[in-house]
Amino acid sequence: MEIQKESVAVIGAGIAGATVGRALALAGHPVHLFDKSRGPGGRLATRRVEWVDRQGHAATTRLDHGALGFTARSATFQAFADLAQKAAWLAEWKPSLAAGSLPLEGSAMLYVPVPDMPALCRHLLDGVSASWSFAVDGLHRGPLGWQVQAGGVSHATPFDAVVLALPPAQAVHLLSPHRLDWARHASVAPMQPCWTLMGIADEPEPSLGWDLARPATGPLAWVLRNDTRPGRAHVAGQAHWVVHARMGWSCRHLEQPAAWVQQQLQAALAAYLGRSVEWRHCVVHRWRYALPQSHGTAPAASYWWDSAQGLGVCGDFLGGCGIEGAWLSAQALSAALLQRASDAAGASTACADAAAADAADPHQR
Ligand SMILES: Cc1cc2nc3c(=O)[nH]c(=O)nc-3n(C[C@H](O)[C@H](O)[C@H](O)COP(=O)(O)OP(=O)(O)OC[C@H]3O[C@@H](n4cnc5c(N)ncnc54)[C@H](O)[C@@H]3O)c2cc1C
Repeated sequence: MEIQKESVAVIGAGIAGATVGRALALAGHPVHLFDKSRGPGGRLATRRVEWVDRQGHAATTRLDHGALGFTARSATFQAFADLAQKAAWLAEWKPSLAAGSLPLEGSAMLYVPVPDMPALCRHLLDGVSASWSFAVDGLHRGPLGWQVQAGGVSHATPFDAVVLALPPAQAVHLLSPHRLDWARHASVAPMQPCWTLMGIADEPEPSLGWDLARPATGPLAWVLRNDTRPGRAHVAGQAHWVVHARMGWSCRHLEQPAAWVQQQLQAALAAYLGRSVEWRHCVVHRWRYALPQSHGTAPAASYWWDSAQGLGVCGDFLGGCGIEGAWLSAQALSAALLQRASDAAGASTACADAAAADAADPHQR
């Protein structure tokens, strides 16, 4: 007898949601992803900026303004990174560090999705159905299953299960009606913010001699030349900068106007470089929830799963810091979901066998 696989809605198409979506789709479950953005990636982010060059020509440049890249600490994530690299979804980046920079923690090599950061999630979700620009603001559980809503409009079909793969603060209002205990944990899960400056500047030097800096002091935590990263476009005479402020600085100035923040970070970059920067285009982005706080109290479980309701939660705030943590959390939740499906299939096969045996044995009727 063919068992109908449970349908699953995954809210959030960052690395956690994309990992769950792929695992379930590969196991034959009908899966649908929902994301408020125009495409997948989440904090694996690349922005396409449009600007006008010195000659008055329109130009576009892509800047990786979220995660810089990642390392693999666990054997399972290393195996995933190896496969992704073999498939040419990832490249190795061994950045030259600026003189006097703090060293990279752990490995001197980072994996970088190519040609842009969301590419990793795009590949994972190849062939999986999704709704973009769909900011989920309501989850309702009725007799037919879970209804997923945005702006008062419900998605056409209900789902047997729902997975939330969102930063904790964004999951709270969706969880509250169904698991108040989880909503309370999520509402206090500490996340650090980050102000990011990105832009294009004239570059008089043919080569700066370094790709990445971690200044030991001052407002800047990371300074990177995006155009020297693997798979990124390099244009002679241009420098493509992405600059992340320190957590403390970002916290103190979180509510400042973007124009003020831009001015401060531009000045900090010029001070760090020891020369002025001729900007052609520049913009800032405020990440309210960039990374879980490493000294925060992480919840004990690496994912949350309520089998009775068919409701799950995963993401970096549960699995540990960064992309690897988000991936590990998503893998663990996928395994729990697939286990439930296999238990249900086992129970249903056992019932079918028992019914057949009953039919064959008249004394059992
Ligand atoms: C500036 C910065 C630098 C970083 N540097 C590194 C690094 O060097 N190394 C590293 O490992 N990690 C780094 N990180 C952290 C890393 O990016 C995250 O840990 C990881 O990407 C989290 O993945 P996720 O899937 O859990 O969440 P996200 O990537 O945040 O995905 C959540 C998704 O949910 C969507 N969403 C939110 N609310 C809704 C809603 N209501 N309805 C529908 N969709 C919704 C969002 O649009 C998003 O796509 C950095 C992050 C930032 C911001």
